[in-house]
Amino acid sequence: MKVAIIGAGISGLALAYYLQKLGVPYDLFEAGEHVGGNIRTVHQKGYLLELGPNSLQLSDELQELITELKLEHEVVPTADVSNNRFVLRDGTYQKLPSSPFSFVTNTFFSWKTKKRILQEREVPPAQVPNETVSQFFERRFGREVVDYAVDPFVTGIYGGDPDKLLVEKALPKLKEFETKYGSVLKGLVKHNTAARQKTFSFANGMSTLPNAIAEKLISLHTECRVDIVTRSQGKYIICCDTAGEHDNEEYDLLVLALPAHHAADLLHHTFPGMSAALQNINYPPMAVVHSVYNRSEVGHSLNGFGALNPKAEDSFTAGSIWTSSLFDGRCRPHEVMFTTFVGGAQYEQHAHTETETLLQNVHNELREKYDIKSEEPVFQHAHVWQQAIPQYDLYIEDAHLMAQMLEKEGVYSAANWQAGVSVTSCIRYAKELAYKINLRSPSSRIAD
Ligand SMILES: Cc1cc2nc3c(=O)[nH]c(=O)nc-3n(C[C@H](O)[C@H](O)[C@H](O)COP(=O)(O)OP(=O)(O)OC[C@H]3O[C@@H](n4cnc5c(N)ncnc54)[C@H](O)[C@@H]3O)c2cc1C
Repeated sequence: MKVAIIGAGISGLALAYYLQKLGVPYDLFEAGEHVGGNIRTVHQKGYLLELGPNSLQLSDELQELITELKLEHEVVPTADVSNNRFVLRDGTYQKLPSSPFSFVTNTFFSWKTKKRILQEREVPPAQVPNETVSQFFERRFGREVVDYAVDPFVTGIYGGDPDKLLVEKALPKLKEFETKYGSVLKGLVKHNTAARQKTFSFANGMSTLPNAIAEKLISLHTECRVDIVTRSQGKYIICCDTAGEHDNEEYDLLVLALPAHHAADLLHHTFPGMSAALQNINYPPMAVVHSVYNRSEVGHSLNGFGALNPKAEDSFTAGSIWTSSLFDGRCRPHEVMFTTFVGGAQYEQHAHTETETLLQNVHNELREKYDIKSEEPVFQHAHVWQQAIPQYDLYIEDAHLMAQMLEKEGVYSAANWQAGVSVTSCIRYAKELAYKINLRSPSSRIAD
């Protein structure tokens, strides 16, 4: 049994790694020169810039992977201040309560909302078809919680719109808490979810992880774009473009570790229904802007992870990570670095701003919000992801259903539109899938 994996982002890499460990033959195809997909660290003028993920949440799988790849000495935990998260409220940044208890004791919410939070345990659970994240939280906690806690939270994870994301898809654990315990707060307390999981990066940036996995792989083919997938007599024929040369190879199983729109192009002829469902998945654009200032010119203490701007505050940017407060070595010691996000589902048109205006607008907003005295940043850089993060809204449901059905045909999906959008979820999903695929291999059946 031979498996073709298309796409060497973290999902495809992790899957190849686990299949290799299980002794399942595979080929991993990557269109680009580099692996990692959304994970992209760039070094420019002495600055370390993350164009995609900035930090990862530690999980058992990730810890095991780090140990196996001998990356322990490269891991840098986020600084202690990272527990402080700020949200724009009435034009200034206010610290968001960090536990269910402090939601009530903190001055962030009005008395009326605090009362609703305290009474959440009494709100009866309800099964509302296609309930959005906003509807769910409004029903249980009231509108203020949606506008000033949930909205920035889903912006931070999905670049998403809580009025469109489905609670069962986007925040399944919280919906499960309602069903299981009759209360989200009860579930959070029972599972101690409020205690933040450890977050970290690597001394040389996020690309350390995909590069280290790639080094271990025996069947990785970079600069190998898969153009067409066809099917003949139960086998999948992969047509690959390698520097203008076309190769055809036959496989028993196919794994799509690609953004949905790329996967849609490949399946157009073989599985048109799935292709159409994938095409419908919404990926709003997102610009990532790095701005560096002299620390002495920034009035704000930047004592936290960063700050998010709820839609209700009508700002240009969606928020910023205070990168230099989290990790050393991203800029010079006398400087500070902001990583600012512009776009996502609620600010889509802002991501399309022409580069010079984009940089200027980001600077203007940072200046105003953080009491920055300098006329211009010491350094600025912008990268635009035209299709950034898949949205777990109504449109993703068909793709999930069809992906499940296609597994019978030997076609699997391992990508952030299926696994969950965090790198941690992609790795967990890839590991589970490797074991599932291994069960199909003849040697595994004999062993049974
Ligand atoms: C701006 C931004 C910030 C983020 N921040 C965080 C964060 O802080 N923490 C976190 O956990 N997650 C974060 N994420 C999410 C996370 O980075 C992604 O969900 C995850 O990396 C996606 O991995 P993937 O392998 O599923 O897909 P991708 O990374 O998209 O990889 C797909 C790969 O397929 C390749 N490919 C495409 N077409 C073909 C083809 N025809 N043939 C061969 N190869 C092909 C591509 O070149 C690419 O390498 C962020 C994402 C973005 C965009």
